[in-house]
Amino acid sequence: MEIETKCIQSGYNPGNGEPRQIPIVQSTTFKYNSGTDMAKLFDLEAEGYFYSRLQNPTNDAVAAKIAALEGGSAAILTSSGMAAVFFALFNICSCGDHIVSSSTIYGGSYNLMSVTMKRMGIECTFIDPDCTPEELEQAFRPNTKAVYGETIANPALNVLDIEKFAAAAHRHGVPLIVDNTFATPVNCRPFEWGADIVVHSTSKYMDGHGAVLGGAVVDSGKFDWTKNAEKFPGLTTPDESYHGIVYADRFGLEGAYITKLSAQLMRDFGSTPSPYNSYILNLGLESLPVRMARHCENALKIAEFLSEHDKISWVKYCGLPGDKYYALGQKYMPGGSCGVISFGVRGGRENAERFMQGLKVASIETHVADARTCCLHPASTTHRQMNDEELIRAGVPGDLVRYSCGLENAKDLIEDIDAALAALDI
Ligand SMILES: *Cc1c(COP(=O)(O)O)cnc(C)c1O
Repeated sequence: MEIETKCIQSGYNPGNGEPRQIPIVQSTTFKYNSGTDMAKLFDLEAEGYFYSRLQNPTNDAVAAKIAALEGGSAAILTSSGMAAVFFALFNICSCGDHIVSSSTIYGGSYNLMSVTMKRMGIECTFIDPDCTPEELEQAFRPNTKAVYGETIANPALNVLDIEKFAAAAHRHGVPLIVDNTFATPVNCRPFEWGADIVVHSTSKYMDGHGAVLGGAVVDSGKFDWTKNAEKFPGLTTPDESYHGIVYADRFGLEGAYITKLSAQLMRDFGSTPSPYNSYILNLGLESLPVRMARHCENALKIAEFLSEHDKISWVKYCGLPGDKYYALGQKYMPGGSCGVISFGVRGGRENAERFMQGLKVASIETHVADARTCCLHPASTTHRQMNDEELIRAGVPGDLVRYSCGLENAKDLIEDIDAALAALDI
């Protein structure tokens, strides 16, 4: 099936006389006739539901759809994107381990790896995503367990060379984990380029309406944990908390990683989405391909308009010919990338702020990637603790405006921008 069809049909297949739309199973728990029946579930010997922190039918149906969209073997939903990022890594890393990550990743993920996971004894080396294969090679250590990057980085907007990162990861016997939030599986499927695990903040385009927080972890089912078994003892040696079950043996390449994540991390940390939120997410998924096409169309029109405007000093969008990442964008996302662009307003920080205040259609928000156009001036908000020099090093200079193109008519958005720029006295 093509992606448009999967967005509608995958994950839930009602039987005769059953509801056409995914039912919201709003129940914490499930009833059994005997304790023996339930014990089998607790021992992972039988499949079924007993407590929604671990598994819930609504969540599972939507997770199965996302697995199908990415071309993966299994997936699990989480209550936020951050929970998905953490679980994807913590499922295979413990105290004493090491991660190699692209340096241009979402701020929350950067904090998670640079501060919080460090406190857990897991270190991370951040590397310029545009580095040479030799430089990438040097970032690895004997205790490296995973490589991490974002298809299109938020907010830096660089495109990850997935094949380069996958080749390096596989040379060292570890998986490549890719955050595919901005591209969505409609525009890029990282598994087709060698990635092993994909994570999502479904709070962005997948929901698409700014309505529900959520995340997802998807396994390609192709990474062989047993090949370098000593690196992944959690998957290849007995789990004492489940009577000595070995995930890689019992659930195979296709099921081991997600089963372990669900059985251990969901059991111990929670972070399960509400079935109602999963239902809302599924409504978003149904229209994802239609919406992504409009987001990309609007972004390209606005990027083109801005690149010719004399009050704009630079525009960053990988769909724009001449952009530094145009070639990589065309390789990995020939059908379109995302609706988020960034640009510099002439006159720097103050004019960027004044420009944003002049916008009437676009609103000022920290969120990105949903139906309503919004923008943010990182230098005066998310990155306000940094001075000008630090801002440049972080890839968010003082004049940068991040602009997330919604689903409105591009003509209205361009008129809005034009009027706000006209009001600037440059
Ligand atoms: C927003 C975002 C996250 C975090 O997701 P939440 O749902 O906000 O927890 C992770 N990665 C990327 C690329 C994001 O844009």
